Amino acid sequence: MRGLKDKVVLVTGGASGIGKATALRFAEEGAKVVIADFADGLEVVNAMKAKNVEALYVQVNVTDTDSVAAMAAKAIETFGRIDVLVNNAGITKDSMMKKMTKETWDAVIAVNLTGVFNCTAAVLPQMLQQQSGVVLTASSVVGLYGNMGQANYAATKWGVIGMTKSWAKEMAKNGLRFNCVAPGFIGTDMVRKIPEQVLKEKILVKVPAGRLGEPEEVAALYAFLASDDAKFINGAVISVDGACTI
Ligand code: NAD
Repeated sequence: MRGLKDKVVLVTGGASGIGKATALRFAEEGAKVVIADFADGLEVVNAMKAKNVEALYVQVNVTDTDSVAAMAAKAIETFGRIDVLVNNAGITKDSMMKKMTKETWDAVIAVNLTGVFNCTAAVLPQMLQQQSGVVLTASSVVGLYGNMGQANYAATKWGVIGMTKSWAKEMAKNGLRFNCVAPGFIGTDMVRKIPEQVLKEKILVKVPAGRLGEPEEVAALYAFLASDDAKFINGAVISVDGACTI
C-alpha cells in the first residue's frame, strides 16, 4: 500500500489477536513497528527482527498515564517519530445489565475508552509537531448496534466513535486523520472465549458468510486506512464484518 514504507506505527495490544496481525501487516508493508502491550510481545518482535524489520516491544498498561507516557517517549527515542497509532488494546467483561457490577463497568471503560484517550493524548504532541499522523481506533459492530450482555463494552465502542469524529474535526487542519474500524466477530481469543454452542447458534447464524473473520482481514483495513490511499478518509467508521450487520 502507498506511503507505509519506513512509517513508524505503534500498535497497542499488539502481542496477540488482531493487534498482532496488524503489527505483522504493517511490517510486511515496510513500516517500523512498535508493539505496546500489557502482555509479552517480545516473541512477535523478535520474529520481525529476524526478517530485518525494525521493531520494538514496550510493556504498557493503557489505563496508566505514566506507563503510556513512557511508551510514547520510548517509541520516539527509538524511531524519532510516530506516524500511526493503532488503538487496538481492548477487553470484555460481559454480563447482563441486572448482574453487571460497577467493578466490571469501570474495568472495561478504563481500558477501552480511557485507554484510547490516554494513548492518543500521549502521541498527539509528536504528531502535531510533525503536522502529520494517523490515529486508528478499534470500535466494534457491538458499538454500532449494541449486544446482549455487553452494555459496558458497547458504551466504550460507541464512545470511541464520538471521540474519533471530534478529533477529526479538531485536527484535520493540522494534517492529522482519525478513523475507527468496526470488526464483526473475528476468530481471536476474545471471541473464542464464547461457548461453542453460543457461537454456532447465536453468532454465526447472523453472518451471511457463515464464518468468523480472520484477524488478517481486519489488519488489511488498518493498513489501508493508514496509507496514502486513504488520505481523504477522516472521521469515518468502517465495518469489517462479513455483512453480519445488514
Ligand atoms: P485479544 O484479547 O486477542 O487482544 C487484546 C490485546 O490487548 C491483548 O494482547 C492484551 O494483552 C492487550 N491489553 C488488554 N488490556 C490491556 C492494557 N490495559 N494495556 C495494554 N494492553 C492491554 O483481542 P482481539 O480480539 O484481538 O481484539 C482487539 C481489539 O479489537 C479490541 O479492542 C476489541 O475490542 C476489538 N474487537 C475485536 C473483535 C473480535 O471479534 N475479536 C470484534 C470487534 C472489535
